[in-house]
This record gives sequence, structure tokens and C-alpha cells, in this order.
Amino acid sequence: MAQETVFTPDVKFVRELQKAGADTLKKCYQCATCSVVCPLAPDDKPFPRKEMLMAQWGLKDELLKSSDIWLCHNCNDCSKYCPRGAKPGDVLSILRKAVIQENAFPKFMGKIVGDPNNIWQALLIPVVLFLVILGVTGHLHIPEGPVVFSKFVPVPVIDGVFVPLSLLAVGMFAISMSRFWKNMAEASGMQPKAEFMPSLVETLKEIMTHSKFRKCDENKDRSVSHVLVFYGFIGLGITTAWAVFNLYILHWELPYAIDEHALSIFGGSAVVAWAYKIIFKLFANASAIMLLAGGTLVIMNRLKERSVETTTSSFDWLFAAIVLLVGLTGFLAQVMRVTGFPPVLAYSTYFIHLVLVFYIIVYLPYSKLAHFVYRTAAITYTKMLKRDVEM
Ligand code: SF4
Ligand code: SF4
Repeated sequence: MAQETVFTPDVKFVRELQKAGADTLKKCYQCATCSVVCPLAPDDKPFPRKEMLMAQWGLKDELLKSSDIWLCHNCNDCSKYCPRGAKPGDVLSILRKAVIQENAFPKFMGKIVGDPNNIWQALLIPVVLFLVILGVTGHLHIPEGPVVFSKFVPVPVIDGVFVPLSLLAVGMFAISMSRFWKNMAEASGMQPKAEFMPSLVETLKEIMTHSKFRKCDENKDRSVSHVLVFYGFIGLGITTAWAVFNLYILHWELPYAIDEHALSIFGGSAVVAWAYKIIFKLFANASAIMLLAGGTLVIMNRLKERSVETTTSSFDWLFAAIVLLVGLTGFLAQVMRVTGFPPVLAYSTYFIHLVLVFYIIVYLPYSKLAHFVYRTAAITYTKMLKRDVEM
């Protein structure tokens, strides 16, 4: 006798998905064209047809524990060929956002950051925090003389905000990721056939080269914007670590004046000191330009996608806008400092930049950026199960 399987549809979940942008999911009539054209779907239980059915039935638990929705790179080849306009690529994108919210710790942060309607609330937190700290430390005013950002927001204030809150974010993210990993293991019901570390290394290699993106047909050019944003972020991360090294190991503060202290660091050679400073600045600015160019391309691609078969959720728009603004305000603040803009403009731009950097770093476990980590974990897990497509 055939085994009976009982599903409990979650109608509320279906409505939530539709409200979040997956309003086309009911159009799917299960023809499976999407799974056939998807360049990344494994032969064994391919996606996204089965996810469309599960979403129509409101199988929340099964969907939010699935690793398959993270193997999709949102190229939208499937949406292009779907005969019903059901936009399966976008439905998977909305599902990934739901997973981030579901695993968020604490939950309310997932709601604040995950819902673009709450953007002002999310931005108000760092604004108030910085204003209070600047007020308490007596720095809530425009400093006299040439623009030096550390006179406005001293380095200990930046460290005092970012170091503990970044560590807290890492801790919160670790809790979310352990839940996610446990859920994937529970849902797959399979024993891993490969070790974690080799699978992770293989995944990172794929991510660094963006090799999966190049398998896509419809939105192949999106890999360029992703590469720029990806390496822009990595470059700015290295820049931050480098600046910390300069400050705490070399005891050399921005804007890195070539004075007696600098000469003592570089064995009395002004040429070496200048070369070091110029390399640092070039590296930092190149990273910011990459982020800026990548952010601009992301927005241009999204505008282009609006005219075809896809929908861009406001969550994606928000991420693209924040990335662009981080690069723009950082770059403008430097230009204003060097070219002698009125200090009030330079310091205000710098303040906005800090607020946006806070958004990117402290809210990482709940924002679109969390995708990088969730996707890395899911692809690694899939490689451990040996059901990933070969590159
Ligand atoms: S989403 Fe479109 S292509 Fe995929 S099964 Fe449904 S109708 Fe077919
Ligand atoms: S968006 Fe691209 S990767 Fe994702 S399911 Fe569709 S075809 Fe596959």
C-alpha cells in the first residue's frame, strides 16, 4: 500500500510571500520548463519547479529548511522561459529573504532590517547612537581649522562603537547560521559524503571566480557588478585592517602626516614614507571605486530587469542603494576634505558615511549581505552531500 504523506499548508505564509513580491507564484502550472532551463539545478530533484509547488501549497517548514533555494544565483533564465510568467527566479529570491528573517537572532532585528518599510527605524539607531556618544564625549560640534575627520569623530569613538557591535553581530550571526545548518541537515535527511573543509574551499573558489554566474544565459553580465561589489567590499575590509595596523602598531594616525614620527617608522626615509602612504590611499580609493562602480551597475541591471520578466523586490533595491551610498559618501568625504569644501559639508557627509557603514557591518546578519554567508553555507553543505552541479 502506498505510504500516506500529510502536508499542512500555511496559508498565511503564502500570503506573506505574495505580499513580499512573489505575487505570481499561483500562476505556475507545473510544466517544469524552469527546472529544465536552469543551468544550476542538479539532476537529482532539480529546482525551481518543486519550490514553486511547495510555495503554492504554503509548505513553509520544508521551504525555509531547503538548501536548494540557495543554489540559485537569481540569473532569471527560468523566468525568461516560464510560459506562465510565474517568475520562479523572483519567488526563490523572496524565499531566501524569508529564510534570513526566520533565522534572525534576535528576531526583531530581522523584522527591522528585513523590511524596507522600516529603513528609517534602522538608520535612526546609528544616528542616535553616534549623536549621543559625540554629545557625551564633547565632540558634537564642527571642529575649527582644516578638515580632519578624527577631530570630529575621534578614533576611540569609532572603535568603541564598531568593535563591540561588530563582535556582537558576529555572535548573533553564528547563532543564525547554526540554526540554518541544523535545519538543512534535518531537511535533507542524508549523511554527508564529503568533508566540510574541502567542500568549503571548493565553494570559496567558485565564489571568488564567480564561475556559476557565468553559466547563466539571460543575466550573465550581472557577474561583473557582483565581482566589483564583492572585491570592493574585500578591499575595504583589508583597508580597515590596514588602518588599524597603522594606528595601533605603527601609532600613525590619519591623515598620515609625513612628520618626525613617520620618518622614525620608515628608517628616516621620506620617500619610503610617502610611497607607503600613497599605496595605502590608492588601495583604499580603488576599493571604494570598485564598490561605487559595482553598486551603480547593480542599480542599472535592476532597472534593465524591470523591463523584462522579472521583479526586483524593494529589499534588493535597498541593498543596492546602500552599497552605492556607502561608496559615494566615502569617496565624496575624501574629495571634500582634500579640495577644501566648507567643513560642515565634509563632516556631514562623513557622518552619513559612518551611519551607512554601521548599517552594512552591524546589520549584516539580517541584510541582503547575509546572502553571501547563507549561500556559502548552503553550497558547502550541498557539496558535502555531493549533489551540486559540476562546474
Ligand atoms: S514556474 Fe513556470 S516554467 Fe516553472 S513549472 Fe511553473 S509554469 Fe512551468
Ligand atoms: S534564477 Fe537562474 S539559477 Fe535560479 S532557478 Fe532560475 S534559472 Fe536557476
